[in-house]
Amino acid sequence: INKIAVLTSGGDAPGMNAAIRGVTRYAIYKGLSVEGIVRGYGGLLDEDIKPLDRRSVGEIIQRGGTFLRTARCLEFIEPEVQKKAAEFLRSRQIDALVVIGGDGSMKGAEALSRLGIPTVVIPGTIDGDMVGTEYTVGFDTAVNTVLDSVNKIRDTAYSHDRVAVIEVMGRHAGFIALYSGMASGAEIVLTPEHPVDFQAVCSHLLESHSMNKMSSIIVVAEGAATGTEVVDYIKEHTYLQANLTVLGYVQRGGSPSAYDSIMAGRFAQKAVDVLLEGKYNCVVGSVGRQVVATPYEEADKIRFVFDEGLYNLVHQLGR
Ligand code: ATP
Repeated sequence: INKIAVLTSGGDAPGMNAAIRGVTRYAIYKGLSVEGIVRGYGGLLDEDIKPLDRRSVGEIIQRGGTFLRTARCLEFIEPEVQKKAAEFLRSRQIDALVVIGGDGSMKGAEALSRLGIPTVVIPGTIDGDMVGTEYTVGFDTAVNTVLDSVNKIRDTAYSHDRVAVIEVMGRHAGFIALYSGMASGAEIVLTPEHPVDFQAVCSHLLESHSMNKMSSIIVVAEGAATGTEVVDYIKEHTYLQANLTVLGYVQRGGSPSAYDSIMAGRFAQKAVDVLLEGKYNCVVGSVGRQVVATPYEEADKIRFVFDEGLYNLVHQLGR
């Protein structure tokens, strides 16, 4: 192969820029030329593409978001649209495509592979829930951002004897809630992996209160319940004062942590190496402590497993 293209797709995640930089510079180091596709799969349809050299990815490693922009391009599920994208890549003599994104973005990459375009996926999503890897770029930064926020909210919760409910991202997976809850010393974490028992939450809080614990932190993943539901239930069924903070996009932004930038670089190297070895149509990932590449059809067997032991430990230590 001589020329590759790179795009970012789905929700932005800190470390995506570090991954673009890694792909671009490592590919150039290996003698390839690189094009950047703007706004994910949308850019393949709008033919929005620009050459990338070493300098064009300078000063981005420390930046959150993605300088190539990203998009949710819903029409990309249509076979006709995918065909058009594949034809565009061929017309530009692009031999392979690196996609940085989550599960949905991987589906798009698989579709292009079936049309004869070699693809490789780098996991980039803050939620951590993706097949083919036990780690996704952006997760560590998001957890640290939540931790920082909870530490600040905790000051007020403690000073005013309040229950602080913090709603975090995670529609299908509670990894952000679990890890930020553990790190911030939350009393309760609510995640989609466990049915929410509002009554048990209240009993827990009242018991803590009777043991002179005057303030509590609850971290709730949006997929388990809304923060409003939790606060309203506590207010209705106890005498405790509860306040809600919805962190929202704060969690997606900011400079990547050291870990995310390092993983982005390692994943990028693997992605380019895999293409050069002709073992494409796979997702790069971290398994054990190794960076591996797994064919799309086998990726289902690998994922970040919800740590029940950690979940129990949060509640054992949180009181
Ligand atoms: P995140 O979960 O972090 O937002 P993601 O990659 O899972 O990342 P999605 O919005 O699910 O985000 O998908 C991103 C894009 O991938 C979609 O907008 C669409 O362009 C493409 N895509 C998603 N699903 C498919 C599919 N089944 N076939 C082809 N393309 C798809």
